[in-house]
Amino acid sequence: MVQDLKNLSLAEKRKLAQQLLNQRIARAAQNKEEIELPDYTRYTYDMFMFGSSPEPSEIERFDDWVQATVDDHTYTFEVPRLQAQLPENDIYRTSHERIHVVNLSSYNYLGYGYHPDVIAAAKEALDIYGLGAASSPVASGTFGLHKQLERKLLEFFDLPDHGVSLFSSGYGVNSGSISAYMKQGGHIVMDRSVHMSILEGAQLSKCDLHYFKHNDVDHLEAILQDIQRSGPSRILVCIEGVYSADGDYSKTGRIVETAKRCGAKVLVDEAHSMLLVGPHGRGVCAEAGVLEEVDLLVLTFSKAFGGVGGALYAPRKTAQYINWYAKCRMFSCALDPAVTGGITKALELASGSDGDERRERLHRNASFLRERLQGKVNIGSSESWIIPVIYGPEKFTLPLSDYVQRAGLDTSMMQFPAVGKNESRMRLFVTSEHSIEQLTHAAEIILRAAEKYGFTLNERGNFS
Ligand code: PMP
Repeated sequence: MVQDLKNLSLAEKRKLAQQLLNQRIARAAQNKEEIELPDYTRYTYDMFMFGSSPEPSEIERFDDWVQATVDDHTYTFEVPRLQAQLPENDIYRTSHERIHVVNLSSYNYLGYGYHPDVIAAAKEALDIYGLGAASSPVASGTFGLHKQLERKLLEFFDLPDHGVSLFSSGYGVNSGSISAYMKQGGHIVMDRSVHMSILEGAQLSKCDLHYFKHNDVDHLEAILQDIQRSGPSRILVCIEGVYSADGDYSKTGRIVETAKRCGAKVLVDEAHSMLLVGPHGRGVCAEAGVLEEVDLLVLTFSKAFGGVGGALYAPRKTAQYINWYAKCRMFSCALDPAVTGGITKALELASGSDGDERRERLHRNASFLRERLQGKVNIGSSESWIIPVIYGPEKFTLPLSDYVQRAGLDTSMMQFPAVGKNESRMRLFVTSEHSIEQLTHAAEIILRAAEKYGFTLNERGNFS
């Protein structure tokens, strides 16, 4: 029997499993027995991540889960959008329904992804340079356009003897730079809430990994002192500017000061803060006055810049080294020309009065929505344009996401392992381009959902 099963294709195995299940159901019905059927709403993402059996069982079970959720119309992931990431959008569900939604699920924070001047600049670059760079940036994939973007970023931050290393993804900036900068024998100390790309870079480096409690400077210091006691070694502390899961600001000034005092280098990932805060949008490090102390400053172009890709801003010699030794940069094609043209225009707009106006609207919109939700649902420690609505159990993710989409709101759902167990949340990304009416409508939908799924807060701040 084992031999027979091994010879079956995946489709045949699934068919057989279904037949066996049908037989079980039929037998149970005949014997008037109750049987427990698989409950796909109980499944969570991490259930399919591990497994070393030669049989691809987690692949099959994952497929079963996808099929089951598609069949009961709760599969709300990878739903195609039918326009740019505008504040309102039409989405097309697997159930073939077209739903009009307020879009709080994309991090196009300043609306530059669909700004006419940004689009025009991208089109112009496309006309001149064509669709792709067709080579690694270290070989022949660097265009005049890339050099122009590097120059503009250097002017923007305006620190002496600094350099920029462009990457085709923000993820790659973290994973590639950290794994190139840090070597076996070193120590990487991360805030518990840092992004997966930082964690993966740290794992690739083969350093010893340490985690400090979220934003807890005393805990960080204790870890650094412990490492120092074990002898001299290279240490890198990794934090984010504004945390992508919680929407709170890092204690950047104090963390940088502590790290430097303990002889550590510092990486700050400003994916969700660059262009959004600080003088002319130069980010949280510039605002805290510690930009010059930061060894690796990470930017992603997929957020406020409205495009895709990212950059490392670092002392010139460091950036030059990363250009060659970050493997995902060296062995991958350069940032595409149209996106590079668009990003350069977005940077020009964001660093001037257009950016100032958009930042002001963004901050106003974010405060408005936070105030609407504060005390009624759990928005954690959010202080920014990222507002998590924490509902807890993973089992609510699918039905809740389905419910809010149908009610006319699109949000970004997050659950374990992206956040802790029982800390599942709908993440709301506010942009400068949302209107007060759209945000009011969104808040109403969330409060209705909270009533329905029982995560409204009572006076004591607990779920009622
Ligand atoms: N860093 C942080 C903090 C992020 O949230 C993300 C993705 N959202 C990344 C890096 C990766 O950036 P990208 O999506 O541009 O590759």
